[in-house]
Amino acid sequence: MQYTITGHQLLGFSESALGKNTYQTFNPQTGTATPWKFCEATDSEVHTAMELARTAFETYRELPGNHRAEFLRAIAVQLELQQEDLVSVYMQESGLPEGRARGELGRTTGQLRAFAAVAESSSWMEVRIDTAQPDRAPAPKPDIRKCMRPLGPVVVFGASNFPFAFSTAGGDTASALAVGCPVVVKGHPMHAGTSEAVGRCIQMAARQTAMPEGVFSLLQGSSIGLGESLVRHPATKAVGFTGSKAGGLALSRLGAEREEPIPVFAEMGSINPVVVLPSATEPGKGWAKAYALSVTLGAGQFCTNPGLVLGIEGSGWTAFSKALAAEVDAVGTACMLHPKIASQYQELRTDFFAQPGVSRMTSKDEDQADTRATGGVAVVSAAAFRKNARLKREVFGPFTLLVTCEDQQDLMRTLTVLEGQLTASLLGDETEIKSATGLVALLGEKAGRLLINGVPTGVEVCPGMHHGGPFPATTDSRFTSVGTDAVKRWIRPLSFQNFPEGILPPALKDDNPLGILRMVNGEMTADPI
Ligand code: NAP
Repeated sequence: MQYTITGHQLLGFSESALGKNTYQTFNPQTGTATPWKFCEATDSEVHTAMELARTAFETYRELPGNHRAEFLRAIAVQLELQQEDLVSVYMQESGLPEGRARGELGRTTGQLRAFAAVAESSSWMEVRIDTAQPDRAPAPKPDIRKCMRPLGPVVVFGASNFPFAFSTAGGDTASALAVGCPVVVKGHPMHAGTSEAVGRCIQMAARQTAMPEGVFSLLQGSSIGLGESLVRHPATKAVGFTGSKAGGLALSRLGAEREEPIPVFAEMGSINPVVVLPSATEPGKGWAKAYALSVTLGAGQFCTNPGLVLGIEGSGWTAFSKALAAEVDAVGTACMLHPKIASQYQELRTDFFAQPGVSRMTSKDEDQADTRATGGVAVVSAAAFRKNARLKREVFGPFTLLVTCEDQQDLMRTLTVLEGQLTASLLGDETEIKSATGLVALLGEKAGRLLINGVPTGVEVCPGMHHGGPFPATTDSRFTSVGTDAVKRWIRPLSFQNFPEGILPPALKDDNPLGILRMVNGEMTADPI
């Protein structure tokens, strides 16, 4: 390894270890602690990181997009150079297999390069120019030009279930850096070593590309106090979070209660309802197996895990339900990320089985010691589901609840009581879907992504992706945390009225020096004015 894991905070270009308290991470496969000790960040280190970010912002926001792109690409190259060591630390701290580690690293470098292209294109600036009409009657029209500007320093919370792709150099970090916002990451305590190793790659890339010090810092800690201090710090202008509903809501309240309120973009998970129409229950369609694999993928530790499957009673639905349970049983046990996540899963699954009207369908539902978990499938009637709020909770793990509806009206009544979701899926043929009046529209009110004949796990990173959804899936349904539109969380519009050409920002100048597509007097064009 080119650098060792020290357990220190990364503050701009230096490191710091003022905290007296330490903690360790844990190998869920072996049940033993990893070799490293991590210092808890202090309030003074929080202040230093945020003040460095505040100062860096003044320079970083003005850099040309291609310079920021160079930085993002340099991070990707560093991650690739350190791939073997990063994969080793990742596997030790997460218990996830090598293939997943390498795949997730590839996704992370791909995201960094995608956001580098966004930085370079300046398309995120959404330029609008309305030239002056001095002779307009009854009053002259001034020259008004608008473009997007970065918000300022962003605090990113690393997610437990994606140590690479939704953590230190993940989508939140890459999208904020792309548009000129310095980033301070709060590393997830379950994979602090992975966070530090990735953080050092970012630190090295920042030096190589001559970024201002403070464009990136990493603070580590195992108590909620650190995250609270970061959100409360006056230099913080926005927050990106992926995790539990309790954590997301607490941070969102903190952001709103500040003297200067700030947006907290929290992605808090979902039960991702799936509607199985009669034609999809035919065994030849293979949906029972496909869904068993989706429910158990990564031990079910995905926010897009299909936790609720609804169908209309009949022999087809009964056969589908039994086949799905048998396929989940056939998958066997899997290692979860942490004993705490595993025990929460086991408790929730047991609680679901004990609810009125719920029948357990899988046979291998015995509790496992430490981090190993078995899949679970249960079934309940739509009427019993509707009146029991406990059945609408997310079970983070390889579990799904089947809901048997009497007919389509019963199905629609049941979908109506659902909260906001990241995804909603429909299985069936086109004629069936068309004749299910109002079904697609209703699901569209509930979710941020609709799928037909597919599984919700596997979130493609591309401009067309929306990974968000109505509350409580996220705190703001208008924004995505995956795909290039993720940058929209970190920017705000600024209008310039009657500015002389010489002091307009480059994106708004008459001769269009950036060569970008702009709306000029209502027409999209890259031509100079
Ligand atoms: P978490 O408990 O929400 O924690 C995520 C991060 O937020 C951690 O860094 C945590 O800090 C911090 N945090 C949590 N509550 C906070 C608060 N009140 N104030 C300040 N900071 C706070 O999520 P997790 O540790 O990843 O997993 C726990 C559960 O979250 C899982 O069992 C699952 O139910 C859910 N989860 C959901 C998703 C999803 O995609 N929706 C992803 C991961 C987990 P500390 O750990 O240092 O306290």
